[in-house]
Amino acid sequence: MEDSNLFDFEAERRRARDVVNNMEKGGKIVRSAFCWLCGAMTDTAMHHPRYSKPRCVTHLCAACHTIADRLRQARESGKPLELKQFDWERQSLEGN
Ligand SMILES: [Zn+2]
Repeated sequence: MEDSNLFDFEAERRRARDVVNNMEKGGKIVRSAFCWLCGAMTDTAMHHPRYSKPRCVTHLCAACHTIADRLRQARESGKPLELKQFDWERQSLEGN
C-alpha cells in the first residue's frame, strides 16, 4: 500500500539523518566548505542520495540540494529523470 511505503520512507529518512547528525557531533564527518557539485563557497548542507545508505552523503549548496532532492524523489517514485548532467550522483551511488 502507498501509505505503508510512505511510513517506511519517513522512518528511513529519520534514521539516515540521525546517523549523520551523530557522526557530525562525534567529529566523524565535517561539512565541506564548498558545494561538491558547483563549487560554491556558501553554507553547504549534507544530502543523502539514498536514505538506505545513511553514511553516504554529498555536500551541496542550497540550489544544488534542491536539484538533488528532486532527483532522489524522481528515482524513488519510479520515474527517474534522464539528465546526463547529473551522472555524478548516479556514479556516487554505484561506487558504494
Ligand atoms: Zn552547488
